[in-house]
Amino acid sequence: MTDTSAASAPITQDVLTIPRKLPEGPVNLVGLTREKLRDALADIGVPEKQLKMRVNQLWAWIYERGVRSFDDMTNLAKSFRAELGERFMIELPEVVSKQVSADGTRKYLVKIAGGHEVETVYIPETDRGTLCISSQVGCTLTCSFCHTGTQKLVRNLTPGEIIGQVMLVRDDLGEWPEPGKPKNEARLLSNIVLMGMGEPLYNFENVRDAMKIAMDPEGISLSRRRITLSTSGVVPEIARCAEEIGCQLAVSFHATTDEVRDRLVPINKKWNIETLLDALRAYPKASNSERITFEYVMLRGVNDTDEDARRLVKLISGIPAKINLIPFNEWPGAPYERSDWERIERFADIVYKAGYSSPIRTPRGEDIMAACGQLKSATERARRERVSL
Ligand code: SAH
Ligand code: SF4
Repeated sequence: MTDTSAASAPITQDVLTIPRKLPEGPVNLVGLTREKLRDALADIGVPEKQLKMRVNQLWAWIYERGVRSFDDMTNLAKSFRAELGERFMIELPEVVSKQVSADGTRKYLVKIAGGHEVETVYIPETDRGTLCISSQVGCTLTCSFCHTGTQKLVRNLTPGEIIGQVMLVRDDLGEWPEPGKPKNEARLLSNIVLMGMGEPLYNFENVRDAMKIAMDPEGISLSRRRITLSTSGVVPEIARCAEEIGCQLAVSFHATTDEVRDRLVPINKKWNIETLLDALRAYPKASNSERITFEYVMLRGVNDTDEDARRLVKLISGIPAKINLIPFNEWPGAPYERSDWERIERFADIVYKAGYSSPIRTPRGEDIMAACGQLKSATERARRERVSL
């Protein structure tokens, strides 16, 4: 028996997020914004005039140095460290397993409170290292080509569980600077993409708080230009994303007519192509970002004709854009096939000649099922395998 009650309930932003502060026991500081950290310190009686300094000190230890024990916070008085240790904790989600692909891609299976699991993927490239993080366990949306979409939503991740993925991968990469040494300039983890499991704009506040932590210059300090949020097209939240996060935006476009997009990305029935494009037109100015990435999965015989390519460039005309063509990644039971390589190149060529950059995303980590749209938690896979026996 699986619990489907959460999945069938109407989804609002935070109803499925477990409370960060459990009724008893220490509060986890990981994932608290500066404001919430301040409140937490005030709650244990830190005097008002010390709050700012204490927040700065803790912030630097946790997010700049990656320290996990209050005992190691050497610029705090011993008695204060002891008090912090009683009331708070600094805890990350647990890495259950790590797989490393032949191409160097690392896939982490991460356990969060309640025993649920999500996947996080690190993709090293010559000029950057990109971390693909999850924002939900499963997804409420049911895009027909996506493996995650076949897994029902279990719950939203908390801000601590979202930023925790960045921190645990920095642990694994050994990327926290040592005290007294300069910050590492050439970063192994230099970019974040919110392209793992889940629809980040359906968990807006938690994703925003986590990304604020990632961008904070006194901590992990990743520029908002190095963070890309991918949405299937939750139109009402797009303007908010520009204002409150200001990161780069990618959109899972995937089709050039409403008829086909309704089938591939069912959220299109709620906000169709025209409505989505209106929201996207306003994004670059509102967020002061450069280009929007249009993701386009190449499905043989479904959305990959020359006519589709021409319609695509016509639709997005006037929007500063880059078209990222994603060869479909197969998964067991998938109802689609990947377009031929020549077809993908021909499509890319039409888009390129119309003046848009049209990179074809090289599938990474396919041998460990880490490529786009293949993520799904192992528990869920195991359950389905049992069911199908
Ligand atoms: N939920 C968000 C972000 C996660 S998916 C979104 O839909 O945008 C990241 C990207 O991978 C999306 O563009 C998604 O449409 C694409 N994708 C999903 N399944 C895929 C598959 N099997 N092959 C290739 N790309 C896929
Ligand atoms: Fe959810 Fe994105 Fe997959 Fe669609 S493509 S089911 S929105 S994770």
